[in-house]
Amino acid sequence: MKTILKVAVQKSGRLSEASLKLISECGVSFPARIAKLKAQAFNFPVELLYLRDDDIPGYVADRVSDVGIIGENVLLEKGVKLEVVQRLGFSKCRLCIAVPKDFNYQGNTSLQGLNIATSYPRILGDYLEKNGVKAHIHQISGSVEIAPSIGLAEAVCDIVSTGSTLVSNGLVEVETLLKSEAVLVAHPHLEEEKQQILEQLLFRIRSVKAANNNKYILLNAPNEAIDKITSLLPGMRSPTVLPLAQPGWSSLHSVVNEDDFWEVIEKLRQAGAEGILVVPIEKMIL
Ligand code: ATP
Ligand code: ZN
Repeated sequence: MKTILKVAVQKSGRLSEASLKLISECGVSFPARIAKLKAQAFNFPVELLYLRDDDIPGYVADRVSDVGIIGENVLLEKGVKLEVVQRLGFSKCRLCIAVPKDFNYQGNTSLQGLNIATSYPRILGDYLEKNGVKAHIHQISGSVEIAPSIGLAEAVCDIVSTGSTLVSNGLVEVETLLKSEAVLVAHPHLEEEKQQILEQLLFRIRSVKAANNNKYILLNAPNEAIDKITSLLPGMRSPTVLPLAQPGWSSLHSVVNEDDFWEVIEKLRQAGAEGILVVPIEKMIL
């Protein structure tokens, strides 16, 4: 029988769409999704299992699935020892402690003796213990942010992305316990053939991620500015330089990273670059 790598993804929720998009950008295609538990790819030895995110670490640990895509926050809260094989860069959020905005917060000693509502008792418990704070952890499974207004707790420990949910509930963030993003986790002892499929998938994921993080840039410059501009554009090796029909001018092509994109563009303009074009990259093979 042909070996197939089982990949667990969230059935529906904040991770689902980005997880499926990533897999599809890796060139792996699936039959249209019809309320099923699993689906096998047409063109790659992968089967998707659609599960609740909280169940994914346990299922990977028990080998029901070989790998899975989950938020790091869930992985750490479950305390299951799995290998993070790739950070995926989406569903970024943080786990933080928040208190009502009129609370006179003086650092984490102010949490002493409070009731703190959370869906993350393990991570919160570890944090309190590490900081020598004794507080009561009230575990609830959802809508944590309303706990202070209904009198259930004086503080909350919850997942935040923009922070607007906290603000609209009259809360302010006072401590950040964890910064999280989606990660690909794997069972630590995959059989050889599954490991090979995982390596192929990882190679594609890294190419997609690199492409998403970089832009292809084309610009025109007077020949005397080429050295300066080259030093600003490291590219994959060094920029391509092509002569323009107009004497004394060249066209330079390179790749720039999204993180320092605007800074580089500014410096390029100062160095004499003109007609700058920036184009998305579909795949980048490293
Ligand atoms: P499930 O029904 O699968 O258990 P869920 O309700 O527990 O889903 P979601 O709300 O869909 O989970 O969130 C999934 C993950 O998305 C979170 O664990 C976290 O890693 C990430 N995330 C990103 N931003 C946020 C946010 N603002 N609130 C909650 N989770 C977020
Ligand atoms: Zn969940």
